[in-house]
Amino acid sequence: MKKATKKEIEALKSTLLERYSEAVTELSYTNAFELVIAVSLSAQCTDKRVNLITPALFKAFPTPKDLANADIEEVKRLIQSCSFFNNKAINLIAMAKRVVEVYGGEIPLDEKELITLGGVGQKTAHVVLIEYTQANLMAVDTHVFRVSHRLGLSDDVSATATEATLVKKFKTNLHQLHQGLVLFGRYICTAKNPKCDSECFLNAFCKSKDGFKPR
Ligand code: SF4
Repeated sequence: MKKATKKEIEALKSTLLERYSEAVTELSYTNAFELVIAVSLSAQCTDKRVNLITPALFKAFPTPKDLANADIEEVKRLIQSCSFFNNKAINLIAMAKRVVEVYGGEIPLDEKELITLGGVGQKTAHVVLIEYTQANLMAVDTHVFRVSHRLGLSDDVSATATEATLVKKFKTNLHQLHQGLVLFGRYICTAKNPKCDSECFLNAFCKSKDGFKPR
């Protein structure tokens, strides 16, 4: 597949920034603690489903202290419609315990510290920091990965390598580009039947649209 040229990357960047200047996560939350929970639950699960689960979960366990002392069966019951809910329940309680014991009940807004929390890997930490602090970071989920490849921004085989490539190519405004690429992938450049001719505003930059034309 062809790669995007430097000129195309600059044009793509400004087009995305213009279109998604106000983009934020579609996960519902009201504070950093709720955001960490929502992002952790969203691994292998849609934001829509997470948003159905979290109101009751946040009501039952409004603070890290409440979740740290939670009955695991109760947490499992509340998140059972989410994939990998058994592990997620264990991790959420471990996360809350560490937040209480080590960080005085406040979510640490630092990548190195965030990744010490239960179930929080680099991607989750980046998504939290992008959303909550507008940090100049990239995170590559299934949407960002697919779109980056279709637009010729990356030919990397892993999400981690794709992230490094996007950071190198875009350099600045990474948080906004992340939010934009997620929404673009979720609603326009969808995995099946992307809206190439009807809605895509990046059509001119695309390296793969011919593959989606009806034969
Ligand atoms: S033209 Fe189609 S495949 Fe290419 S970026 Fe747009 S929606 Fe995605």
